[in-house]
Amino acid sequence: MKTVFVIGAGPAGMFAAQKIAQGGHEVIILNRDIKPGGLAEYGIYPTKDKMKIGLRKQFAKVLSLPNVHYFGHVPVSTQSAISIEELKQFRPAAIVFSVGAQGTKKLGLPGEDAKGVYPAKDFVYNYNLLPPYTAHDFSVGKRVAVVGMGNVMVDIAHWLLVDDPKKTTEEVIVVARRGPFEAKFDKKEFKDIEEFLDRKAFDAELQRIHPQLAAVGQDPAKLAEETFPVLAKPAQEINGARLRFRFLCSPQAIRAGADGRIDRLTVVENVLQERDGNIACKATDKTADLEVDTMIFAIGDVADPAVGLPYNRDAYVTNPAVGEDPKGAPHYQLFDPQTGKTLEGMFAVGWARKASEGLVGIARHDGEVGAAHVLKYLEGAADGLGAPAKEVREHLESNGVRVVDKSDLEHLGRAEEKTAQERGLSWFKFDQDEDMLAAIDAFKAKTVSV
Ligand SMILES: Cc1cc2nc3c(=O)[nH]c(=O)nc-3n(C[C@H](O)[C@H](O)[C@H](O)COP(=O)(O)OP(=O)(O)OC[C@H]3O[C@@H](n4cnc5c(N)ncnc54)[C@H](O)[C@@H]3O)c2cc1C
Repeated sequence: MKTVFVIGAGPAGMFAAQKIAQGGHEVIILNRDIKPGGLAEYGIYPTKDKMKIGLRKQFAKVLSLPNVHYFGHVPVSTQSAISIEELKQFRPAAIVFSVGAQGTKKLGLPGEDAKGVYPAKDFVYNYNLLPPYTAHDFSVGKRVAVVGMGNVMVDIAHWLLVDDPKKTTEEVIVVARRGPFEAKFDKKEFKDIEEFLDRKAFDAELQRIHPQLAAVGQDPAKLAEETFPVLAKPAQEINGARLRFRFLCSPQAIRAGADGRIDRLTVVENVLQERDGNIACKATDKTADLEVDTMIFAIGDVADPAVGLPYNRDAYVTNPAVGEDPKGAPHYQLFDPQTGKTLEGMFAVGWARKASEGLVGIARHDGEVGAAHVLKYLEGAADGLGAPAKEVREHLESNGVRVVDKSDLEHLGRAEEKTAQERGLSWFKFDQDEDMLAAIDAFKAKTVSV
């Protein structure tokens, strides 16, 4: 039996941990957030209850394995209470990084620090109640530009148009660098917001870009079949908030008003081009201004450099060597480009390996494939390596970290259930770390006194 650290308890980390534990090893999970789940808990749309509950059950099953230890509320980074170098002092046989993609892909635009400009991930973390994002300002005005045309854009538009309790949004304008045929969202997901589509404005937009579509052989009559099934339905009158699209344009500059908040987004117009069988876009010198008071950019995320792993542009570096199997271990092993060597026993899985790549099923698969490589690696590692979980916990606590373990998670779950019942809600989630910790302590105290 060997000890393996798994850093990050999203779907990739949890399913990797399960497989490694089932291989007979001791697994110690260190997770930044108090709760496990990552984006399954704090990214997936709040009303997708069935999916969230199903995943929580699967994660609970992983945590019920006796050789899986969970230490939540423990970020691993160069700036937190424990760094990779300190972890190594516990001599784990392997470390698996499943920290997701926590860095922000900057737009690099003048004015992007204006108030009212948010990365999608942070905005989503806020409405999904992840501390500390719940304590930050994510105020939304009347006209919101959402940059990007994937499922995350759909979630954000869904929130703004349907579920945001403040209901301030009158118009969501999707800003897309390419055209309607290049929409990346799932048709099924778009159904949640299709009733808000301003059909008159959409038709006018199609007219505007018609020459561009024709230039690459795209026929708007096929849109209903390919990307926008709503177009096959009769148009409905919209009385409230509406959804519009501005195709073929990329953000160029953000202007802020006297209050420091965005009041205008300048976009550069693009043209479509066919490149190697794909539709790409090319900027022109024409610009246009969109009057908006909020901008959310949903263009994917990058790895967080503060974790302290070798980093190249926006990703951790994994071994570029392609062995006999192009999908094999090299791509999971971390690599130091300065020495040209792999990092002994260090692996990356899930969105930490490929940022913003795929749904939960893909992250799970990646975690499990990565874990299979780890198991193979462990066959060659010496037995008995690694300090016991107790020693790791004591070290963290001596550094002032309030560790949340498996029994604490059970207390927290019960405290949230109880609060939901008392308030007549179908579910309740604490949105501050302090409140979660206090609820755990209160439940613990009760259990001890009974
Ligand atoms: C807005 C949004 C909506 C989505 N909706 C769906 C959907 O409806 N259906 C679907 O199937 N998929 C959905 N996905 C995709 C899905 O969430 C991802 O595929 C999956 O969560 C990626 O898993 P992961 O474990 O690699 O990363 P994550 O889920 O991001 O997990 C990373 C984990 O690492 C921890 N961590 C981060 N940094 C550190 C650190 N320094 N130290 C220790 N721990 C750390 C975090 O606390 C977290 O627990 C959505 C994604 C987003 C962004």
